[in-house]
Amino acid sequence: MTSPRRRPNRGRRQIAALAGGLLLAAGLSGCGPDVSTESGPPAAAPRTSGGTGGVNHPAVASRPHVVLISFDGFRPDYLDRFDTPAFDRLAARGLRAAGLISVFPSLTFPGHYSIATGLYPEAHGIVANRFHDPVRNDEFNYRESDDAGDGSWWGGEPIWVTAEKQGMVAAAFFFPGTEADIGGLRPSHWRPYDGSVPNAARVEQVLDWLALSADVRPHLVTLYFSLVDSAGHDLGPDSPDMRRSVEEADRLLGVLTDGVAALPHAGRVALVVVSDHGMAAPDPDRLTVLPELADLSGIRTVPAGAALSLHVGDPERSGALRDELNARLTHARAYLREEIPAHLHARDNPRIGDILVIPDGLGLVGFRRTVERVRLLLRPGMHGWDPRLPEMHGILLAAGPGIAAGVGLPAIRAVDVYPLIAHLLDLTPHPGVAGDLSALAPALTE
Ligand code: AMP
Ligand code: ZN
Ligand code: ZN
Repeated sequence: MTSPRRRPNRGRRQIAALAGGLLLAAGLSGCGPDVSTESGPPAAAPRTSGGTGGVNHPAVASRPHVVLISFDGFRPDYLDRFDTPAFDRLAARGLRAAGLISVFPSLTFPGHYSIATGLYPEAHGIVANRFHDPVRNDEFNYRESDDAGDGSWWGGEPIWVTAEKQGMVAAAFFFPGTEADIGGLRPSHWRPYDGSVPNAARVEQVLDWLALSADVRPHLVTLYFSLVDSAGHDLGPDSPDMRRSVEEADRLLGVLTDGVAALPHAGRVALVVVSDHGMAAPDPDRLTVLPELADLSGIRTVPAGAALSLHVGDPERSGALRDELNARLTHARAYLREEIPAHLHARDNPRIGDILVIPDGLGLVGFRRTVERVRLLLRPGMHGWDPRLPEMHGILLAAGPGIAAGVGLPAIRAVDVYPLIAHLLDLTPHPGVAGDLSALAPALTE
């Protein structure tokens, strides 16, 4: 197994992160480091490769505002099992999907960035929370702010970049990808991720942004909360104690919706609530300690959710190893990358590895230490499995201008959210988006 390498230029970003936190603690406007303010407002046509510089193009003045809110790891059944009046009110005013079908692996970074771009991970490049890129011979780790903030890892075009290019100010209070200079652009307002920022302060800042004068008021705002995901990992999704984090999430959503309702332009603000994946208890009868089954010496291995990615580097050895593993595996299967089941959309990027060993059902493939943690019930909740499993579904609710009231929809794909937001904001989507509006059409008004 490889250990993540350390890089020397870490200090600069940590200082930036600290500065962001201090601004926030001091109650100042608290914009993070901002590269796009240097480019100034766009010229006549609202299509530029630069950003807005924090000022809306006059051509977008009549467009609505969309707040994209993510409650990480929120499973749809929580809405039925617990008391969630704010979610229920939102659903009554708009649409509620039976679920949001995550991507593979159903993890935070690939999941959020597929929501943001309308692309599958193989196309946008964030193929897991951690991965190895054999072409640049470097490793991405979502816990390293140098990586999360380095736009060269992030492909495709997230919705906030589409907005900024087309004359709309975007603002982010966290969302994976918003810290990175993707194609040279960030939202006009953004912050380095800091999980210790109180959730109430995040909501307050978003309401302050929405109260700005129309020329600088963001048309797209992102907001992210991790509390439900953390509780799901610690308690397991079926625990009655999930109530506390779910009801707290509902309370935060209530503060946001009440705040929006009090704005003079409340009727022009749409809310889109998502989660990136669900949560499930791992199956203790389907655990595989991979190194016990074959000689992995010289092979770089990286966990990809419950699966394990192997960078072999030699096609002949890859084929032989895949066969050797499949002869021995009882609760998992090894695939050459080009053989990975098509519905997982995980073939077209070398970052996925030469071989992917995928567990059956809710099993786990890993090293002894990871597997022992599950065996000892130290990880009551996990995610990362096949997004078709209902336990891996996230949520989608939305209400506001352009959305019909009280519409129930079947499960919608995560890649359909980018087209939804682009439609609501009347933005031209970037080419090559995998998602579309067909499943959402019954909930859309003119
Ligand atoms: P996971 O490990 O897949 O369960 O991811 C959830 C965790 O991702 C959260 O608890 C956060 O600690 C972390 N996280 C979420 N957003 C970001 C971000 N933008 N940058 C770094 N870490 C993040
Ligand atoms: Zn997540
Ligand atoms: Zn998680």
